[in-house]
Amino acid sequence: MVTETRTTCPYCGVGCGVLVRVEDDGRTTVTGDPDHPANFGRLCSKGSALAETLTDDGRILHPEVGGREAGWDEALDLVASTFKETIAEHGPEAVAFYLSGQLLTEDYYVANKLMKGFIGAANIDTNSRLCMASSVAGHRRAFGSDTVPGNYEDIELADLVVIVGSNMAWCHPVLYQRLAAAKAARPEMAVVVIDPRRTATSDIADLHLSIRADGDVALFNGLMAHLHATGHVDRAFVAWHTEGFGAALGEARRFGPHELSAVTGLTQAEIAAFYERFASTEKVVTLFSQGVNQSSSGSDKVNAIINCHLMTGRIGRPGMGPLSLTGQPNAMGGREVGGLANMLAAHMNLDNADDRDRVGRFWRAPAVAEQPGLKAVDLFEAVGDGRIKALWIMATNPVVSMPEADRVRSAIAACPFVVVSDIQRDTDTARLAHVLLPSLGWSEKSGTVTNSERRISRQRAFRPGPGEARADWWQFAEVGRRMGFGEAFAYAGPHQVFAEHAGLSGFENGGSRDFDISAHAGIDALEYERLRPFLWPAPAGSMPPDGSSRFFADGRFFHADGRARFVAARGEAERRTNWGFPFVLNTGRIRDHWHTMTRTGKSPRLSAHLAEPFAEIHPADARACGIDDADLVEIDSADGGRVIVRALLTDRQARCNLFVPMHWTGETSALARVNALFPGRVDATSGQPALKHAAVRLRRHDSELHGFLVSEKKPEGVGTDYWALARADYGWRLELAGSEPAEGWENWLRRVTGLPSQVDVIGYHERTGTRMAAFAGTRLVAALYVAAGPVAVSRAWAAEQLGQSFADPHRRADVVAGRPGKGGADKGAIVCSCASVGINDIRAAIASGCGSVDAVGAATAAGTNCGSCRPEIRRILESMMLQAAE
Ligand code: SF4
Repeated sequence: MVTETRTTCPYCGVGCGVLVRVEDDGRTTVTGDPDHPANFGRLCSKGSALAETLTDDGRILHPEVGGREAGWDEALDLVASTFKETIAEHGPEAVAFYLSGQLLTEDYYVANKLMKGFIGAANIDTNSRLCMASSVAGHRRAFGSDTVPGNYEDIELADLVVIVGSNMAWCHPVLYQRLAAAKAARPEMAVVVIDPRRTATSDIADLHLSIRADGDVALFNGLMAHLHATGHVDRAFVAWHTEGFGAALGEARRFGPHELSAVTGLTQAEIAAFYERFASTEKVVTLFSQGVNQSSSGSDKVNAIINCHLMTGRIGRPGMGPLSLTGQPNAMGGREVGGLANMLAAHMNLDNADDRDRVGRFWRAPAVAEQPGLKAVDLFEAVGDGRIKALWIMATNPVVSMPEADRVRSAIAACPFVVVSDIQRDTDTARLAHVLLPSLGWSEKSGTVTNSERRISRQRAFRPGPGEARADWWQFAEVGRRMGFGEAFAYAGPHQVFAEHAGLSGFENGGSRDFDISAHAGIDALEYERLRPFLWPAPAGSMPPDGSSRFFADGRFFHADGRARFVAARGEAERRTNWGFPFVLNTGRIRDHWHTMTRTGKSPRLSAHLAEPFAEIHPADARACGIDDADLVEIDSADGGRVIVRALLTDRQARCNLFVPMHWTGETSALARVNALFPGRVDATSGQPALKHAAVRLRRHDSELHGFLVSEKKPEGVGTDYWALARADYGWRLELAGSEPAEGWENWLRRVTGLPSQVDVIGYHERTGTRMAAFAGTRLVAALYVAAGPVAVSRAWAAEQLGQSFADPHRRADVVAGRPGKGGADKGAIVCSCASVGINDIRAAIASGCGSVDAVGAATAAGTNCGSCRPEIRRILESMMLQAAE
């Protein structure tokens, strides 16, 4: 039977709806849901490749205790008894949960209830601390609640969109495409991008401000002073609906034009151009993301932005307001259930006795936590120094994603009891677990997620989980039951968890709290199954019409006096670099990967665009360090940690700045866990780590030999100084560098790719290098190319040959040579992941007369699906045209 399921993409906070069609024979296709109000049918490269990630490769299939297979009862009894004993002996503060914005709201809700209502501590934090905590803090300070005032429609309605600290084109691609389409339809709409790098997002910008790291508070404070000086204050709004304007303005006036220019690294003319646009445009939306949040002054950055919207009254009305772009698919849902160490459920406050009492009565909880728990960085410090003795990590990989990642790894390794619930068994964190619990993944689990505009959508299961995998909420509920709290955790399904969550949101609310979805409090299994995406608030009896829900246009905020607060934003643009460590390191996402690649790493298409960890370096800086494009480079930090990655020279990078992506792990690279380079420095208000600013140094990493390997089997035990592993269509591809192994290259090849002795290896070893290929009968199972310098091999072509039959000896020779023979085609490195179009195809199309991105698309299909590669196609086009003109 053919089935079609409406569900939600599991990656970024845009929260796109997807349609999944499963054919009789199991073939699965994923397309954008045309009826979903977040994306109206669009998907980006990651969403489009979801079907390719539905493999059970590497999945945890059974609970494991001490590395051996165990039943659920044994594993859960052990978890419950160990947590109970630890609490009895050392108190509730000795245990902790570390969760994830990848969890569904229902998972989060049950975990939070167990920890904060029944264990009686608040040591529950999540990787959302690394993502959104500064936005939460900024919202709560300004509005009295963690409220996102506007929605996606505002981006299209605005006359000026300011994008601060976000490579939206790669990190929130569908929303960026909505913006790009709106700008194409209304070219008078202006876009300002504020980012040290000139990223793909800048391609539609009327103005790009290459701001110095952490110069944002000064820039927006300066804007506030400018708006005041030029008479753009909405005096009635400020007088009737806000407090604290004078103090905030006093702080905002601190810098004169020269200091402002020095702190931001921008010219006075650039600053003036931005300020004038902002001042003269009524409909302004300011979008902000990790460049704002992941900073030691993140909360102040958020408030400096909000101050400018409050003082002009540009908030909560169509086409106006600050709008934070959430990184993760359900960071918002986590915030709604209070899944951070300093929050209580349903946007209530842990430091408010009435709220604690209210939640306690609703849950019938014996021990509601009375004080905030440990935020992520402090939490792992407490794991390291032994204060936390039992830790449950779920759906996240802190050994890779936390700052001071090496210290975090040591802390977890030394913790007496570590439970990890995940889907993949070989993550850097799962390897450290005493108890490993198999979770259901996307496509197998059911629940809800909330996107950046407060839209709650269903994730629906459309296939069974492998082995004994079970839902995350169920795992927490079972442990709660086994700890003696059975009645409070007797859920028959996720719909009952959601119904309770919705009920709590409306409990003694009466409009005093922003988060209210009590319209769904009585939801049953069938209604839950049919639940359509909706924006909150949705209080009992009144569902707002979709797409128009906004907060604060009426000037009513959630502080006790109903007024918003201006916050005097004092966050400094710290100078961390020095002579020894002169580069500012920044990290973030790339276009086609998500977090630590446990899912996107399964897709050959997504792995083909950027198959290695890299550092973006300005060409002048590279020259000064004696580094050429594609050299290996070593980066180490003043705070410890070291990585070896590939140099990618680009003048889109700012001078003295480096960018290294966050995705590579100990599973996919020799030494590229970039967060090991970042200190545990956090924003004092939000506790969010400063993952955009570390002081590092850079040098070339010399290797005797460089190599490229393709293999049907996953290479194991590579052992060279440098290696980076990625999926290929019928196997794997591996970049490597180092010296020749003592066993010799052929034996090395046989060992790392697990070649049986009867498999033939043919090839040659000469002064220019070593080239060999292994055939099982006529089928290519592995090939290795090694050279003293850059390895001349058509990588995409070589990877495509895996699994092919090569009866003809000439064609075998082509494989050994590493390039297509006469008449063969090599599409080159992938540019368009959706249509698997390589750079050689695009160059050929341009050479044959395609003079625009659309024309290249018509000829090759590149850029015609999600559009994320269009900026790259444009750059190729421009560079070829420039060459032709010279
Ligand atoms: S923009 Fe892409 S990654 Fe984000 S939700 Fe949509 S399809 Fe998924």
